[in-house]
Formats: sequence, C-alpha cells, structure tokens
Amino acid sequence: MSFFRIFIILVVCLAAGGSSAAWRPETIRVAVVKGGDTLQLDGTGVLLTDTRGEPLRIEMPIEVKRAGSRITANGVTISGLVASAPIRIDVNGKGYRGIVEVTSGDRGLLVVNELPIEDYLIGLINCEISSAWPLEAVKAQAVIARSYAIYQKNARRGAPYQLESSVMDQVYEGCDIEDSRAARAVQETAGEVLTYDDKVIQAFYHSNCGGHTENSRNVWGMSLPYLRGVPCRYCLDANPMRWDLKLPLKKVEVALRAAGYQVGGLKDIRVQSRNESGRVQELAVYGSRGRIAVSGVAFRKAIGYGVLKSTNFEIRMAGDEALISGTGSGHGVGLCQWGAKQRAADGFDYQEILSYYYPGVKLAKGYGQ
Ligand SMILES: [Zn+2]
Repeated sequence: MSFFRIFIILVVCLAAGGSSAAWRPETIRVAVVKGGDTLQLDGTGVLLTDTRGEPLRIEMPIEVKRAGSRITANGVTISGLVASAPIRIDVNGKGYRGIVEVTSGDRGLLVVNELPIEDYLIGLINCEISSAWPLEAVKAQAVIARSYAIYQKNARRGAPYQLESSVMDQVYEGCDIEDSRAARAVQETAGEVLTYDDKVIQAFYHSNCGGHTENSRNVWGMSLPYLRGVPCRYCLDANPMRWDLKLPLKKVEVALRAAGYQVGGLKDIRVQSRNESGRVQELAVYGSRGRIAVSGVAFRKAIGYGVLKSTNFEIRMAGDEALISGTGSGHGVGLCQWGAKQRAADGFDYQEILSYYYPGVKLAKGYGQ
C-alpha cells in the first residue's frame, strides 16, 4: 500500500472521529434521471473524471448531451462523466450529495447518484412525508426507508443502480429539501433496520390504507409473514382519503386493451370478489364478446396508479361512464404513512408503530453506516 493511500485512510478515519463503523459508510446507487438528451451540471469544487477514472478538465457549468452510446460534455466526447464535490453537485438545478455519474442509457441520459445511505435518507424524508410530522412517525419513516434501501441494495448487486427515485421504489429529489428534523430522525435511528429471521425485510409502505393494510400476496402474489395486513383506523382519523373518479368506458376499454385484455364494446364492470382487507380482488368486465375477469391489481395498473389511487373502491355504470368511488391511496402493503402519523400523535413511539405494521419483526442496529 502506498504512503498516499495510507495517508488518505488516516485522514478519512480522523475525520470520522476514528470510528471503524463510520469511516467507510455504506452507499447506495439511485437513478435520479432516466431519459432526455441534454442536461446541465454545476457546482463548486467539483472533481471530474471519465468512467475509467481519467481526470477531465472541463469548466463548470457543463452542458451534457447524449451522443449515441457516449456523451458530450461542453462539446468534448467522452464515455461518461463522474463528478464528486465536497458539498453538492447540481443536476438541472437540483442538488445531490456524493457522486453523480452521467452516461448514455437505453432511453436517454442516465444519471446515477451514489451517496452514503444515511445522507440519502435525510433527503428522502421530505419527499415521502413531512419532517414536520410527529418525530416518532418521521423516525419510523427513516427506519423503513433504510430497510427498503438495504434490501434492494442486496437484491440488485451488480446492477448499474439499486433504486429508482420514484414511487417505483422510494421518492428522492436530492438534498435541497433536507432539514434539521429529517436529519435528527435519521441520526436518532442511525443504522437501524427491521429484520425477520435475522434478514433485512422488504419494508414496503404506502400513503394511506383507508382502514386496513393489505396482504402482500394479494398485490404481488408473494406471501411474507410480516406483510399480512392489519386493521388501521388511524389514517381515517388523520386524513380520511375518499375520492371519486369518472372514467369514460371507451377510455377504460383502450387501457385494458393496451394491458393485453381482449375486450371490445365494453358495457359493464362489476366487482366480482373482494379480499379480506376489503379491496377489489376481481372485476367482471362485460363486452360485446362476453365476460372477462380482471384482477383489481391489474385494473389499477392498466388505468394508472396515479388515476386509480387504490383498489379499495366501488364501481357503477352511468351511461357510457364508470363512476368509481374509493378510499385510501397506494398499494396498502406494510406501513400506512398517514396511520403512522396518527399513531405517533397518539403517543406511540417508532418501535411500537413499526411492530404494529410489520408483525413479528425486530429492530436491528448497525446497518448502512
Ligand atoms: Zn391506514
């Protein structure tokens, strides 16, 4: 080992107060931009290399353009760009900590932000909930987001990135919305994750269950002992989420056909069965060629997760429209964020909140630091 490397390790060690757990924080790779042909990078004290680690001397700000399987940075063609800065790097005006990598992906520019998991969590809190919520709810959010990130990191080792920055995984918009309460919740739960049988759990969560959380089997066909569904009147107290939706049958037909269902002349949709949480298990869809069965989960996916907020709904026909009224928002599996908020306001601590929504789990320390 060269003197230089020993020197670097010593400096990093001293900067971290000499703690062996903290001097090499576990990192996570998050896809923060997928698509588009141009973007702008900016920042102060930014170190730049190409993807092989060769230093680049390009002035900030940098206009990045896609050029086939390569990119150009202020007109210079390179394989890709790796940027790191002591504080933050701006990508299209949004700040990110750690390292930012820009390459040409299948569907446009791909920007991956690699950063310590604990820093990622501080940025994430105000994307998923509000740090102004009771602190025990914010701490519960920190623990489940950390558990989710570490589970996915292990599951997607070797992939170009391990997390999406959208509701597909966890919403993450960089460091601009960090604040001291989010940082406090992350620090007070530092390195804590939920485990079952000594393995980090798939800590799914959602916005508002509407009265009962969902068994993972009903959504993904995957039975997990800690994702079985529990009653939750708490979100009804905190934020009773009722919604109504009017969908032209023609539009529903187009959406179902796009999802692969052979339906024509759609004239009626009825709830055929509900599961134990009250959500729609199966719909009967009547068209000119008879009846087909569509699961509630597949129906929501076809219509759009943002349009049909949950599978907890009633449906009736009015002329050439379907009138849908429902409750809750999200898939319903795992922790209910609005329910957790109310439970924290009722005086439960974050461990009690977590063990309610994930029965049988344990809180383990020492991960992701
Ligand atoms: Zn709930």
